[in-house]
Amino acid sequence: MADTTYRAFYERSIKDPDGFWAEQATLIDWSKPFTKVLDYSRPPFAKWFVGGETNLCHNAVDRHLAARGDQKALVYISTEVNEERSYTYRELHAEVQRVAAMMQSLGVRKGDRVVAYMPMIPEACFAMLACARIGAIHSVVFGGFAAHSLAARIDDAKPKLMITADGGMRAGKSVLYKHLVDEAIGLAQFPPEKVVIFNRGLDTGMARTAGRDLDYAELRAKHMEARVPATWLESNEPSYILYTSGTTGNPKGVQRDVGGYAVALAASMKHIYCGGPGETMFTTSDIGWVVGHSYIIYGPLIAGMTTIMYEGVPIRPDPGIWWKIVQDHKASVMFSAPTAIRVLKKSDVSFMKRHDLSSLKHLFLAGEPLDEPTHRWIMEALGRPVYDHYWQTESGWPMLAPAPGIERTEIKFGSPSFPAFGYDLRLLREADAAEADVDEKAVVAVVPPLPPGCLSTVWGNDERFVKTYFTSFRDKMVYSSFDWGIRDKDGYYFILGRTDDVINVAGHRLGTREIEEAVNMHPAVAECAVVGVNDAVKGQMPLAFAVVKDPARIASADGRAALESEVMKTVDDAIGAIARPRRIHFVTLLPKTRSGKTLRRSIQALAEGRDPGDLTTIEDPGALEQIRAAIAERR
Ligand code: AMP
Repeated sequence: MADTTYRAFYERSIKDPDGFWAEQATLIDWSKPFTKVLDYSRPPFAKWFVGGETNLCHNAVDRHLAARGDQKALVYISTEVNEERSYTYRELHAEVQRVAAMMQSLGVRKGDRVVAYMPMIPEACFAMLACARIGAIHSVVFGGFAAHSLAARIDDAKPKLMITADGGMRAGKSVLYKHLVDEAIGLAQFPPEKVVIFNRGLDTGMARTAGRDLDYAELRAKHMEARVPATWLESNEPSYILYTSGTTGNPKGVQRDVGGYAVALAASMKHIYCGGPGETMFTTSDIGWVVGHSYIIYGPLIAGMTTIMYEGVPIRPDPGIWWKIVQDHKASVMFSAPTAIRVLKKSDVSFMKRHDLSSLKHLFLAGEPLDEPTHRWIMEALGRPVYDHYWQTESGWPMLAPAPGIERTEIKFGSPSFPAFGYDLRLLREADAAEADVDEKAVVAVVPPLPPGCLSTVWGNDERFVKTYFTSFRDKMVYSSFDWGIRDKDGYYFILGRTDDVINVAGHRLGTREIEEAVNMHPAVAECAVVGVNDAVKGQMPLAFAVVKDPARIASADGRAALESEVMKTVDDAIGAIARPRRIHFVTLLPKTRSGKTLRRSIQALAEGRDPGDLTTIEDPGALEQIRAAIAERR
């Protein structure tokens, strides 16, 4: 019997995971049925749908050909290069096979890694699906990451092939992707043998390395009639790697499986997002992030929807552009981030109201805390439910979310509602892992096994997977999200921010250590501390305090300003402009404990105008005075 309340649905998913997930597994095609829903013989490694064989690309494309071959699968809209292209499921099928064939011709086989460093263009989607089709493992790197970050990901993934474009545009400014790839390959120890370049004509001076660099269009022309059948994969084989920041400098490769991911996405599309075949989904993220993987590419296509791939920013040519897209393409489901809504909130609501938004059922927001004024504003402006929901790169799909496909529960502003089906989510006290009381701040944790779709391990490093995520609580093997949360008396959850040194800039997760390493690359810097501070639009911004080797360089205001620009450029070059600190303050000393630990939380408190807290362990109180003075100083 179908569950009619969220609670009954959720409880069944926890009490009878085998029955629950076997039912959800019927939402996708299997070439071979699984013999066991869950194998949890080696905690915390969970294997879902053991023995079953399927393929993500088959489920996203081929499966729909009979019923909706002529329906649009992918609509690409670029306000950066003023272009619009769309592909039916049949056309998408053909394009993906062409790319699959070109990859095979370059020696890419099942299990090989392909790193995609691409702008938001259809060819990026084709490349991801082509990998999935032949069992190659894609690792998409966000185009905002600079050469050094890209090189670190190349060295971890050791790709056989890279695929890129000559360039892209962001807010009217060009980004030279291929140039950055060249630089990254120069830095990498394990560079790919070949690089395929989709030439958009945006970089007329693009350099080519003979024997290594190949042209996408030329290769495609050789494979126009390609027929590449989907490679059936055991459910637990890897589908992709997506790198994410943590507390240490080197990023972790979140590894995803095939069957569990497909089932989780299909189930979330039905019960959470309520996106059905023939409808249109508009997700405003980027393919370089998990939201792009799950809800621009795989989720909507698995659900037989039309997905919109938008290259551009929300306010160009004017702040009505997204709503025009919703109107023109009759989008029924939208997914975005609070930071974008805060940007839109600055412009007149008439930009939204002049478009016909009658097709839109609801908007989902995730990636960072959604503040109540923003939540209220957008819900009033749209006149539709706007749902906050919470998840992570690791989970691959929502951990806390309402499930309007099951029951339309009341919205509480600023709350991502309840645990999503399949997650035995708890709020645990940091000290003893005991369950927190109502309204008590505690760590958001999940009692394993993690449900289908979540990370299966850290690429090439099972030990890091266990150590990073499952050892926060002594004596208890529980997954830590590294987020603080509380639950109110009605069972609604609220996320209060990270427990670790990770900050969230415009919905993008950045490790403060990673930024510190970048600041330290500047030869004038001896050491530094980076903290996240509140920002009205981006949620948080990094702020850096750097100790200089030669105090003479910061003796004058001009000297400080010049050095600040130089260090910012160093961060841009190392990680990318997304990580650029709002300010770099120079000091001669950082506040540290007697045991040498930098008091980041005290620095952060001062920077946000709060009390610095317990300072009994500080080595030299003068260091804190310097932080105070630096913050007070105006340029
Ligand atoms: P990422 O893996 O980059 O998507 O970042 C995941 C992190 O973003 C989470 O661990 C949270 O800190 C934050 N986050 C995501 N969604 C929400 C939300 N709805 N409310 C508050 N924080 C969120």
